[in-house]
Amino acid sequence: MGSNDIPFLNTGIWNGKLFLSGWNAASAAHEILEPATGSVLTRVGMATPADVAEAAKRARAAQAAWVALPYEQRAAIFRKAAVIIERESEGMTQWIVRETGCIPPKAGVELHMAVGILNEAAGMVTQPSGLVLPSDGGRISLARRVPHGVVGVISPFNFPLILSIRAVAPGLAAGNTVVLKPDPHTPITGGYLIARVFEEAGLPKDCLQVLPGGADVGQAMCADPNIAMISFTGSTAAGRSVGELAGKTLKKVTLELGGKNRLVILDDADVDLAASCAAWGAYLHQGQICMTTGVILAHEKVAKKVTELLTEKANHLPVGDPATQQVALGPLINARQRDRVHSIVQDSIKQGAKLAAGGSYEGNFYKPTVLTGVQPGMRCFEEEVFGPVASVVSFSSEDEAVGLANRTEYGLSLGVISASTSRALALAARIPTGLLHINDQTVADEPHIPFGGRGASGNGGRHGGPANWEEFTQWQWVTIKDSAPRYPF
Ligand code: NAD
Repeated sequence: MGSNDIPFLNTGIWNGKLFLSGWNAASAAHEILEPATGSVLTRVGMATPADVAEAAKRARAAQAAWVALPYEQRAAIFRKAAVIIERESEGMTQWIVRETGCIPPKAGVELHMAVGILNEAAGMVTQPSGLVLPSDGGRISLARRVPHGVVGVISPFNFPLILSIRAVAPGLAAGNTVVLKPDPHTPITGGYLIARVFEEAGLPKDCLQVLPGGADVGQAMCADPNIAMISFTGSTAAGRSVGELAGKTLKKVTLELGGKNRLVILDDADVDLAASCAAWGAYLHQGQICMTTGVILAHEKVAKKVTELLTEKANHLPVGDPATQQVALGPLINARQRDRVHSIVQDSIKQGAKLAAGGSYEGNFYKPTVLTGVQPGMRCFEEEVFGPVASVVSFSSEDEAVGLANRTEYGLSLGVISASTSRALALAARIPTGLLHINDQTVADEPHIPFGGRGASGNGGRHGGPANWEEFTQWQWVTIKDSAPRYPF
């Protein structure tokens, strides 16, 4: 890899290693394959459940000293980390593109968000952390936010940098230490880039441990007595299992899960803009985003035109290796995901959907696909596809649109496109969702917003902005008297 020329990201640093109390050799190594070519990109250590126990113990031991560091020193570490990402963005872009199979602008979004999240974390260190409460007997009564202890972060392969750092940075800023388990497909983007950045920014040893590993490592984190909270981002199926396991040890759990997001296009919408929104929402990063536009509900007056425009776009979007060509779509993460996407498309066609574009693949490259005449009950209507598939459903009244929008257990992101914002807002008020975009598609995030879903999209927890205090700290009630009182006993 070219970025071996960049000392900051030289593969020798992490080859066969874990970031467990610094860079140390692992008992097993794991080759990371490039999704576009199938060739070996790099080699990392693979953690075991025993490594989790060791990392959690060390992280717990480091927490008291971390939180006791002067606030200026802690804030400076986050600011320096942000500067390092800006300085190293060229090399990091190469790693993100090749490891996640994304186009360079998506890597740019990850880096830009990471910088924003780190700067927010720097600010969090000096934000007020409590309230003064009225109390009896002249005592001082405070409610203050205190860290949980050790936060375990488990993240997925699709936007690995953002989805790891959005929990790592505020978790640390709130005074916790962190054990991070990136997805085994993306341990560099989701883990080791962050380890390198914090290492150079001067984060004290053991405050962050990074353990690439599979589900067994995630499960060990959920059960570990030294880990007080789990921040999980991934599929709903794995999230249910994480919730169950962490519940046994009564950990706090934040679950950010899957989505089947609706884009509702009303009859007064500008069809050109609506089709552009639909294409962006459905195809960005090959549809491998929790907020991907999973179902396009178009009023029957505009559905035909929107489908035509969308089909034209799908047929013209270039697909290929984003590391070597200028393309709009790169590969899916692996052949298993590609086969799953293809089976959903094929089954939906058998169930009566019409294929207007795409529906085929070469290697891990799946063509942007348009399915029309989609109905409830078809797989492409019911399931999160995690591939570049736009499913168009036509409706004839707002009541029908609301009914169709609500036929899902997910509730992450909703877009409504209409010439009337009040009409769009009134319709959206009837559809439960964590994120709502009037006159936009469903994919959006910013460093300081409370991000999260409802229903099968999450357990109500949020990442970002004010939500970070709710997630990464808990209330402590403190009373202070001049001297101890005498009681009747
Ligand atoms: P996944 O659930 O298979 O894996 C996610 C992470 O969980 C990985 O690190 C994995 O190793 C780990 N894991 C898997 N099973 C586990 C278990 N039983 N216990 C503990 N850890 C376990 O998800 P994925 O396929 O990598 O990612 C795609 C999914 O993530 C999609 O459903 C997508 O919608 C969702 N996602 C949600 C958000 C959000 O913020 N809501 C963001 C991105 C992705």
